[in-house]
Amino acid sequence: MASYDVIIIGSGPGGYVAAIRCAQLGLKTACVEGRETLGGTCLNVGCIPSKALLHASHMLHEAEHNFAAMGLKGKSPSVDWKQMQAYKQDTIDGNTKGIEFLFKKNKIDWIKGWASIPEAGKVKVGEDIHEAKNIIIASGSEPASLKGVEVDEETVVSSTGALKLDKIPKKMVVIGAGVIGLEMGSIYGRLGAEVTVIEYLDAITPGMDSEVQKTFQRILKKQGLKFVMGAAVQSCEVKNGKATVKYTLRKKETEAEIEADTVLLATGRRPYTGGLGLDKIGVELSERGQIKTGDDWQTNVKGIYAIGDAIDGPMLAHKAEDEGMACAEVLAGNHGHVNYGLIPGVIYTHPEVANVGATEDALKEEGRDYKVGKFSFMGNGRAKANFAADGFVKILADKETDRILGCHIIGPSAGDLIHEVCVAMEFGAAAQDLAMTCHAHPTYSEAVREAALACGDGAIHA
Ligand SMILES: Cc1cc2nc3c(=O)[nH]c(=O)nc-3n(C[C@H](O)[C@H](O)[C@H](O)COP(=O)(O)OP(=O)(O)OC[C@H]3O[C@@H](n4cnc5c(N)ncnc54)[C@H](O)[C@@H]3O)c2cc1C
Repeated sequence: MASYDVIIIGSGPGGYVAAIRCAQLGLKTACVEGRETLGGTCLNVGCIPSKALLHASHMLHEAEHNFAAMGLKGKSPSVDWKQMQAYKQDTIDGNTKGIEFLFKKNKIDWIKGWASIPEAGKVKVGEDIHEAKNIIIASGSEPASLKGVEVDEETVVSSTGALKLDKIPKKMVVIGAGVIGLEMGSIYGRLGAEVTVIEYLDAITPGMDSEVQKTFQRILKKQGLKFVMGAAVQSCEVKNGKATVKYTLRKKETEAEIEADTVLLATGRRPYTGGLGLDKIGVELSERGQIKTGDDWQTNVKGIYAIGDAIDGPMLAHKAEDEGMACAEVLAGNHGHVNYGLIPGVIYTHPEVANVGATEDALKEEGRDYKVGKFSFMGNGRAKANFAADGFVKILADKETDRILGCHIIGPSAGDLIHEVCVAMEFGAAAQDLAMTCHAHPTYSEAVREAALACGDGAIHA
């Protein structure tokens, strides 16, 4: 039996970051992980492998659609799916081994196996019981299920199965037009599949600024993705390796069906707390199965903390990481803080989509006096040169004070561009602060400045 200052359960972005920060702050730290490799959902079956496939398929798209126009002639590359999978696996391995290295460097013990908590201060792994002054649960999440659709990870897959299909399907149905569904749909669409996305609501990517939603859907349609909106999936039957998805069009109350070689169920994720024994020790969960915590990430049981996808808030790796760092600070007797109002969201399609802060719809609903500064990438020289001029930057600012309230970008490198607005908002900046900051030419970031200028006297290149 070993004794620690802190034991962290789960080594995803929440858990491994918490472990590193705890160790850096002088706490004797262990991290339990049930998977074969460190890094959690994100590194093994989430952010990293999906971005590898998005990158490779985007390269193919560029070669097929834009190379000739730039004077790059020759045969279009063909897809070696086995090699693309190997490239994806190499990317995963490089990242998970990197965490292993960081654990060694920071003298963090990796306890291999599945953990349960018999009582506060104790963590059981296999037959061993380890003691800890504090425990952080970072057990993450798992794909949500849908009545009538059984995932077999062959014909009907979750995002995990979708990352390692045997072959590229001819026809793919994606149930759910959220971030994961659209990223995976884009990958297979670019690789040659006929992709149909079925969504229950009338708009894609729920919660996003509605102007961005519309532009995004238009661009995805142009890229060949098909959409069935306002459709409630009733069932999915598999026969001889083919699936038939039946759905009801909610407004018309009519039924329809569609066949596919592969169906991806992407209707969201739910917290994963199985096997921890939380009911026995009385850790409270919300109705949605999230572990309830206070502002310091402590649960109702003293000495047991929780972070990441297992608790409330957006299921994002960087949110989990921020909570991991902040929770470590709390355990070391310092102040830990996460600004939940400024967590950016990014969709890594092409073009990328990124947002931070309030949507225009939310501001309208609040009855707030605001102004909009919008700039199209059509006016950005770099975007035009790179065939990436579809999309815009939209900055929302308080009408009276000019303080930035939100930013929504659809366009090239949106996921990187959003961060200058995050920093500005963290410092309580006005749109004019961004507008007066010199931005190098020619860069995509000039579009952010132009949107800020549009909040004042006007953009230059509009
Ligand atoms: C396909 C896909 C793409 C995604 N892309 C992005 C993206 O681009 N950007 C982004 O921000 N987010 C993305 N996400 C979401 C992101 O992966 C999660 O928000 C993030 O991984 C949450 O981190 P976490 O530390 O809370 O949990 P996880 O990463 O889920 O890690 C939890 C770990 O705990 C382990 N565990 C659970 N219970 C126990 C136990 N009892 N004992 C031992 N170990 C245990 C699990 O094995 C797991 O490894 C994506 C998710 C998916 C599925």
